[in-house]
Amino acid sequence: MEPANTEAKPQAATGQTPGAETATSRYSVEADTGLASTKTIIIDVESVDFHYGSSKALHAISLKIPEKQVTAFIGPSGCGKSTLLRCFNRMNDLVDNARVTAGEIRIKGANINAPSVDVIELRKQVGMVFQKSNPFPKSIYENIAYGLRISGVRDRDTIDGTVEQSLRGAALWDEVKNRLHESALGLSGGQQQRLCIARAIAVKPSVILMDEPCSALDPIATAKVEELIFALKDQFTIVIVTHNMQQATRCSDRTAFFYLGHLVEFDRTEKLFTNPVQKQTEDYISGRFG
Ligand code: ADP
Repeated sequence: MEPANTEAKPQAATGQTPGAETATSRYSVEADTGLASTKTIIIDVESVDFHYGSSKALHAISLKIPEKQVTAFIGPSGCGKSTLLRCFNRMNDLVDNARVTAGEIRIKGANINAPSVDVIELRKQVGMVFQKSNPFPKSIYENIAYGLRISGVRDRDTIDGTVEQSLRGAALWDEVKNRLHESALGLSGGQQQRLCIARAIAVKPSVILMDEPCSALDPIATAKVEELIFALKDQFTIVIVTHNMQQATRCSDRTAFFYLGHLVEFDRTEKLFTNPVQKQTEDYISGRFG
């Protein structure tokens, strides 16, 4: 199936060598307004197939994710959204016999599956927030300080400063500043998820992957996390898997629609939801299946 990648067309073949140390891969975005803008591509997925054993979960996926924007992956359950998301920080390495079997994924121009890649470094660059919040059974402070310490940061003032900055960045500081040394497990579900976001941003990644980050939250906690996602894109590139189409429309700039392991359509969110090119996209967003 050919994806209707209606705006992410390369301007010209760049002849770039895979793994080249560059973030200059660019493409032109033609907005409906007729204004053209140029975005830096941070994640470049080219013709990727993915298998779990002999079962093919992704089929020739190509898409270019722009920097400092929110990109949403939508589609019915089992269509491969999480699989693709987990490719970006090689979380699938943890699953036996699960692998990219064709194509290439480049982040900032570097092939992330190259043998020379240090996966721990990759995961510092590409952080992740999961469906179910998973704070460590430690204090609020330690949840953030821990990642810094294992990265080699020892200076107390630096750690204190980063804990505060990260909690502020995750819109949680005012709620927890007087209880930093209490257990993180005493926070509400929504606060725990924002703590996980604070923990992710503390190590200053370039990309934050979010796999259904609000699916366990009530509407008020969801709204706070969505506001946060929107605010974080000033500093980070965010890729979010969501089964909630309203969420995609509320907080993403671009949306990719997947079906049965294929990328069907990738476009600006507003365009994809108001004027999709593919009938399958239209059927899905209008609730005819999924
Ligand atoms: P989505 O996130 O869209 O719900 P997934 O990426 O989780 O979809 O799954 C895509 C396909 O890969 C599904 O058919 C699913 O059953 C299969 N799959 C996912 N995880 C595993 C796994 N650990 N082992 C085998 N198959 C898997």
